[in-house]
Amino acid sequence: MTTPELYDMVIVGGGPAGLTAALYACRARYKTLLVERIGLGGQLLTYEKVDNYPGFPEGITTFELTELFKAQAVRFGMEHRSTEVTSMDVSGPIKVLQTADGPIQAKAVIIATGCAPKKLQVKGEAEFTGRGVSYCAVCDGPFYRNETVAVVGGGDTAVEEAVYLTKFVSHVHIIHRRDALRAVKIIQEEAFANPKITVHWNRVVTEIHGGPQGVTDLALQDTLTGDVSRLEVAGVFIFVGLIPNTAWVPETVRRDPLGFLMTDDDMATSVPGVFAAGDVRSKSLRQIVTAVGDGATAAFNAGRYIESPAHHG
Ligand code: NAP
Repeated sequence: MTTPELYDMVIVGGGPAGLTAALYACRARYKTLLVERIGLGGQLLTYEKVDNYPGFPEGITTFELTELFKAQAVRFGMEHRSTEVTSMDVSGPIKVLQTADGPIQAKAVIIATGCAPKKLQVKGEAEFTGRGVSYCAVCDGPFYRNETVAVVGGGDTAVEEAVYLTKFVSHVHIIHRRDALRAVKIIQEEAFANPKITVHWNRVVTEIHGGPQGVTDLALQDTLTGDVSRLEVAGVFIFVGLIPNTAWVPETVRRDPLGFLMTDDDMATSVPGVFAAGDVRSKSLRQIVTAVGDGATAAFNAGRYIESPAHHG
């Protein structure tokens, strides 16, 4: 058997954090591989447009921004492979990543695998996923032209995507479990001003009902009175938060109570030579602008780690 190729740095995840880490690593002339399981862009591509990334005063589509990030990393020689990392051995100075296409070795690893949408975990959710239950408005919104849909959640994603869905649908019902939204005020103002949006306060979805054609209605419970009502919708978009993509990361890499990877200011995790960047990291603000900062910091410090003779043979 041939020895797996040894890279200076392997970056796992091709969202804004991973692509920025690749840009910095390649520009510093480290032998770098970026591994991404689906396509470059990551969770970013589930949104339509970005309005708060500096340098684009009119906003930019996530597709265009991803292409720009990618082109810049490629200009400095980014090598990229589409495969899924299933596990990682961090017991020795050289880290070994197992992938569907065989093992890869690295002196340092940057984990930038981001997050996946959290599930609501109610009856009907799994059964109707892809048939009325969705976690991506950009992907599925156009299927609901002139129909009524629900959005569950009160954070930035829920409210922003509710506004986006009004481009297609006749009406959006936002279902929120409290009496105030978590989303930033400017997004809230946009939603409140939109006649196609109704917010149902203090309500939770307890069941998702449907038939052979897909979702037909939701059972909603009033969190104050306990009353249950029915809301007819053709689709329900669930945006109730994020869970980190860390199933492949060994338990020795320390997590916070919610499962996000803990790092110091240099993006170093509890395991020497393993760094984390972007949404997968335990932090207060999950944005593109913070992800790219993490990516640059992680690549810089992974470089310092590689150069330090004490750390590997
Ligand atoms: P989030 O901020 O964690 O919000 C999740 C929402 O879902 C909250 O309103 C929460 O209610 C609700 N929720 C959670 N579990 C629920 C359950 N079991 N049943 C009903 N409701 C539930 O998640 P997010 O909106 O996906 O945002 C994730 C991160 O990405 C945030 O840091 C956000 O700022 C960022 N983001 C930023 C932008 C932007 O800047 N343009 C866009 C999208 C996302 P409570 O409010 O009661 O907790």
